[in-house]
Amino acid sequence: MGEAKRRGSAEQRQVAAVAAQREQLPKVVMCNNCKAELTDIHPMDVRGMPGMRLAGGAHCPACSHDTWVLDGTPEGLALFQGFLDEEHGAGAISTGFARR
Ligand SMILES: [Zn+2]
Repeated sequence: MGEAKRRGSAEQRQVAAVAAQREQLPKVVMCNNCKAELTDIHPMDVRGMPGMRLAGGAHCPACSHDTWVLDGTPEGLALFQGFLDEEHGAGAISTGFARR
């Protein structure tokens, strides 16, 4: 178990996992509201969400709109879209940009 400790704390491993997810998201996503280019995309942990492969949200500093980058099965995307609609309101969604 000493091995795991040398590789870093749970927090450091979480940071590395997030960085790996960020790698798979596009560098830039266009704001769905004002068309600004957003580069600050935050990956979301989707391991608990069936059918979802990737999700990341970008907050637009210009208009305060959140745009999401999503990848997954149609069923997974539909579920996730329903979740976002409830949390953030419909329309804050951008899909299909994730790299394979
Ligand atoms: Zn915007």
